[in-house]
Amino acid sequence: MPQDPTPIVLTFKDSSYTIYSLEEYDLLPDSVKGGPEERRLIESSFKSSTETGENGFSFAFFWFIGVMILIIYRVVKDLKKEQYRDSTPLAYDADYTDNSSSTSCYVYKGKELHFSTDELHKVCDKYNPYYNKLSANNQQLFIERLKKFIRSKDFYIYAPVAYKEMPILISASAVQITFGLDDYLLPHFSTVVIHPEEYFAYEPLRVLVGNVQDNIITLSWKHFLQDYQNPSDGKNVGLHEMAHALQVQYLFRKPNRMNDFKEDYEHYDRLDDEVQQSERLKSNRLFDDNALKNKNEFWATSVELFFERPVLLKLQYPKLYDAICVVLNQDPLAA
Ligand SMILES: [Zn+2]
Repeated sequence: MPQDPTPIVLTFKDSSYTIYSLEEYDLLPDSVKGGPEERRLIESSFKSSTETGENGFSFAFFWFIGVMILIIYRVVKDLKKEQYRDSTPLAYDADYTDNSSSTSCYVYKGKELHFSTDELHKVCDKYNPYYNKLSANNQQLFIERLKKFIRSKDFYIYAPVAYKEMPILISASAVQITFGLDDYLLPHFSTVVIHPEEYFAYEPLRVLVGNVQDNIITLSWKHFLQDYQNPSDGKNVGLHEMAHALQVQYLFRKPNRMNDFKEDYEHYDRLDDEVQQSERLKSNRLFDDNALKNKNEFWATSVELFFERPVLLKLQYPKLYDAICVVLNQDPLAA
């Protein structure tokens, strides 16, 4: 009996996408699947499922390097622990367990987090400039969506202290990016992991401030907060990771099923090459090097700029700006 091929996971710096078959891969928008070389690689991966030998050596080598890095990381982390405690943002309400004796993991089931409307409003009003600019009616809708989003996730907080702002504000960034969409719960992602600062991600081993992998959205709280406190520098790791989460949810989950997001994304997809080429020729770029390395990164960075530097993005790349307005069904400049 023929067996289903083993799914292939494409892992980039801070995002990973699961491909279940070559047919599904072929149906993806061009910008997320790479070029002919990637296709050949994926085709051969589906065909050959039992290669060892050289791969075994590679695995052992990377395992050794990984263990060495982990040891160094642990030593550095211990040294930095006291420093972190001193810099913990005490201005935030430590409503939950405060067990500062160790870096523990606090687990909060979204269903059991019963934040009041007033509580959510106060936190978003104080720390989320997007929410701040919404009309009273839209703020009400935002809070309703936020409650539902929080209820649909579990939160794992690997920090000495867990703050109520962590699940609230990270969920708010998801509600922000999906505010124009009917389906906003990102149901593929059941888990949100929060680290106090940079963390290690595995396979491959790397240091990150945010990533999406499997059904998990992970963020560094320090970087998440810093980015929201600088709302016009074009950097926002929360929105960046939510942009990857949208790709996974709407493009890679059942890619053979057409949806409005996918259709609109394909329109955006036809414009990004031109913008990337024009950016590469500039000395004063709007997009950073990371965005120009990879098309998925370009999408996530475009979303950051869309919310944080909309005037500049529209001025320099009006077609791209308009295409993102259509994909996300919202326009920050119209607010
Ligand atoms: Zn990214």
